[in-house]
Amino acid sequence: MLPYDEILRQLHQKSLYRELRTIEEVQGPAVRIGDRMLVNFASNDYLGLSQHPAVKAAAKAAIDQFGAGSGASRLISGTNEVHTHFEEEIAAFKRTERALLFATGYAAAVGTITSLVGPGDVVILDKLGHACLIDGAKLSGAFLRVFPHNDMAKLRHHLAWARRTYPHGNVLIVTESIFSMDGDFGKLAEITALKREFHALLFVDEAHATGVIGLHGEGWIAALGLTQQVDVQMGTLSKALGASGGFICSSEMLIQLLVNRARSFIYSTALPPASAAAASAALAIIRSEEGAMLRSRLRSNVLDLYAQLTATDRQAPDPAGPIVPLVIGDEQQTLELAEILYQRGLLAPAIRYPTVARGAARLRIALNSSHSMEQIQSLSQTINAFR
Ligand SMILES: *Cc1c(COP(=O)(O)O)cnc(C)c1O
Repeated sequence: MLPYDEILRQLHQKSLYRELRTIEEVQGPAVRIGDRMLVNFASNDYLGLSQHPAVKAAAKAAIDQFGAGSGASRLISGTNEVHTHFEEEIAAFKRTERALLFATGYAAAVGTITSLVGPGDVVILDKLGHACLIDGAKLSGAFLRVFPHNDMAKLRHHLAWARRTYPHGNVLIVTESIFSMDGDFGKLAEITALKREFHALLFVDEAHATGVIGLHGEGWIAALGLTQQVDVQMGTLSKALGASGGFICSSEMLIQLLVNRARSFIYSTALPPASAAAASAALAIIRSEEGAMLRSRLRSNVLDLYAQLTATDRQAPDPAGPIVPLVIGDEQQTLELAEILYQRGLLAPAIRYPTVARGAARLRIALNSSHSMEQIQSLSQTINAFR
């Protein structure tokens, strides 16, 4: 490995150096950093529920009842009523037999993939899969094959190869419903058909779809009527649910397996009671009339932004998720645009390698139901002037 200071120097030189920014105050979709107020287009809190009075009140009540921390891992003494309650509710919402909470979505993915496959098995992963899916696959010791994003011919090819080469192994397909950096949707109908044909297992990460997509926000799997075809549904409490934590929805048997095998579940302290309680309150809103109204506002914000961006490649896809990628390509130019936006009070950071491929740098704009028409206009005008 290169000396550490040399690694940092090269990151600077390639416009790939990153640093933290501290938010000091939150006001709806706006945040204060230093002495500057910025409209936040970088948050995954798509329905604004992290700021909802009922969600905050639920978190506070859970702290009063159970304390600030859980005190132990789930299997020791960390499981309390708010965890169990959320697990029952999310399983019912996703229409699976059972659910299991993890401390983060990252931990849910890594713990689950490493429990389902090992040496002698195969994981087949979409090229644009989130880092936690890649890390889980690598850590599992299974043979890893990657298919180009949503390329069904290549997925079929890998499945046939896996069945020939590992006739007795498990074959696990891992993909997402809404991809985190491109904002587009996984081809789940085609993937479930291939999964059946090749007797593979299917794991779908619904981090960005839960709460946002579907009549009641159940996600993309349910919206497509594919619940029975997906073996493992993963999600996080940290996006539309406005809290923090991760979950797996699956069969009773697979959840029992995770409780006994998933190291990130077994050897990590249970998520704070406040997070689980906040997520339960958020889920109740998501399923209500208010949730439907928030989703419809989010959707019209997304369509407005697409309509206002002038470049020809900016047509709204159908369905349109909350993430609008503005691919610039060059890392330096992307940083410049992010800086111009920042100076205008608009927070939309540059996403660069290794989060996305080299030369595919972009602004990742995440819309929120509480963004106003003026805020979206100000964003689109600044971007259009730059391009
Ligand atoms: C955010 C995210 C995760 C990780 O969830 P956390 O709860 O933040 O750990 C997993 N997968 C995808 C696609 C994500 O965007």
